[in-house]
Amino acid sequence: MITSSPSKIQSIDPATGEVWREYDSATPQQVQAAVAKARAAQKNWGPAPIRERAMVLRNFFDALFNRRMEMAALITRENGKPAAEALIAEVIVSLDIIKYYLRYGPLWLRPQQLPHQNLALKMRRAYVHHVPLGVVGIISPWNYPLMLPLGGTVAAILAGNAVVLKPSEFTTAVVLETEKLFHEAGLPEGVFQVATGDGSTGAALAASDIDKIVFTGSAATGKKVAAAAAEKLIPVVMELGGSDPMLVLRDVNLDHATSGVIWGRFMNCGQSCVAVKRVFVEQEIYEPFVAKVVEKVNRLRLGPGNHPETDIGPMIRERQVAILEQQLADAVAKGAKVLCGGKRRPDLGPFFFEPTVLVDVDAEMKVLQEETFGPLLPIVPVRDIDEAIAFANATPYGLSASIWTADLKHGRALSQRIEAGAVLINDAVSHVGACEAPHGGAKASGYGRTHGRDGLMEMTRTKYLDIDPITFLRKPWWFRYDANLLQQLNRFADLLFSRSLWARLRSVPESLGLLRRKTWV
Ligand code: NAD
Repeated sequence: MITSSPSKIQSIDPATGEVWREYDSATPQQVQAAVAKARAAQKNWGPAPIRERAMVLRNFFDALFNRRMEMAALITRENGKPAAEALIAEVIVSLDIIKYYLRYGPLWLRPQQLPHQNLALKMRRAYVHHVPLGVVGIISPWNYPLMLPLGGTVAAILAGNAVVLKPSEFTTAVVLETEKLFHEAGLPEGVFQVATGDGSTGAALAASDIDKIVFTGSAATGKKVAAAAAEKLIPVVMELGGSDPMLVLRDVNLDHATSGVIWGRFMNCGQSCVAVKRVFVEQEIYEPFVAKVVEKVNRLRLGPGNHPETDIGPMIRERQVAILEQQLADAVAKGAKVLCGGKRRPDLGPFFFEPTVLVDVDAEMKVLQEETFGPLLPIVPVRDIDEAIAFANATPYGLSASIWTADLKHGRALSQRIEAGAVLINDAVSHVGACEAPHGGAKASGYGRTHGRDGLMEMTRTKYLDIDPITFLRKPWWFRYDANLLQQLNRFADLLFSRSLWARLRSVPESLGLLRRKTWV
């Protein structure tokens, strides 16, 4: 941990508002020092055999597995989410990601032989190597404080990089606990460091001497981070916000889809990038769909996340509750109707907000224009599927989307018309837990990918190696040029590309002449 600066950040229990720990924010100088230390450590870590790097990650996997319930409890304490979600969506997904990378990573990181296409290069041997970038800076949000930063961290470390991680100022303890587990696992000093702090620490990391940034957070902050990366011409992965649509077709299984939408919107108290944020239902089934959703929402249990029967915990902070209230007030002022919920629950704690179902919503309202990051579910009837698709794409975001239908073929065809990084048919949110699925967005939801093979490759630089074993033949294309060479090259183009067999055959003697050139310098 990098410590001792004047500015403080706090771990607060969102269920009670109790401040239970304070940390120093790392200063820009401390961030620079961490990056320098990471660079020095990477010099040994990068060239270490992959089996050594994998062994450390295997130890880390064991440590996290053995401590899974404690880690889940810590996540609940700092983030507020129900214990079951902390276990399944954070710890189990993280373990799965590590296991997946341990299984396939060494294979994918191996150099690959690349056969040459051009006849003139056929005798050479070529390879694509996947080399580490150096130091990767990871900046992460609070809503999945373990799973989100860990996916990138594990990929980066396995690929031979060092990592400096700036966690959200709201969820420092979870990441510091992760750092402890890495040390226990035998990760060499400096390969993984945590720079605690708020946005200014994040800005210092983005401006520091790193080789890549993996940023997960809001689009507004993402623009600042991308600008800092552009100054230094370093690559970035941008995992930004979303306003995921759910399209409900008339042939849907109503019971299944209504349970699905409730989980897809309200799990993690609605604070997921890929949560269902706008629902479009074909009008034939709109009324029974809404009635069933309301009936089911009324049965959800709000409470502290550490109670095993809590379905929905608190939101993270007062500011998030206030933004949600403004979005809801805007909709109601413009004619929307609240069918259930719609209020804070100060009797439970300072940041509790009821799961809320909203109808009579239109495109002028913030709830359809902005990302809503809390338990607020707007449901809109649509004439037909074309209107649903038009609504779905009418947002700057394009993270993911879901289509709910019994006709899988039709659903698959519709998925091609949706502008998003991922489309799920008959489920939502769970794709982020599929460690093999490349995760990332389209449009203002970002670029680059985490998880899956793509996520590992993001942590490498492609390095091409070309070996010519023939050391006595000068290349036909070397100096000096003359009219004869031009003529031979022209025939060689025929040999390579002409559609006429006769032209190709006729070009052979002159093409071979290229090998017998006499006019080299
Ligand atoms: P945020 O943008 O406020 O903060 C994200 C991180 O950036 C934090 O660590 C913060 O301290 C840091 N930061 C703030 N200012 C910075 C600056 N100027 N330079 C560098 N770093 C800075 O986002 P948040 O409120 O923590 O998270 C919620 C947002 O994240 C939502 O929009 C959500 O959709 C998005 N999100 C996206 C994904 C995804 O995979 N696409 C996943 C989770 C969350």
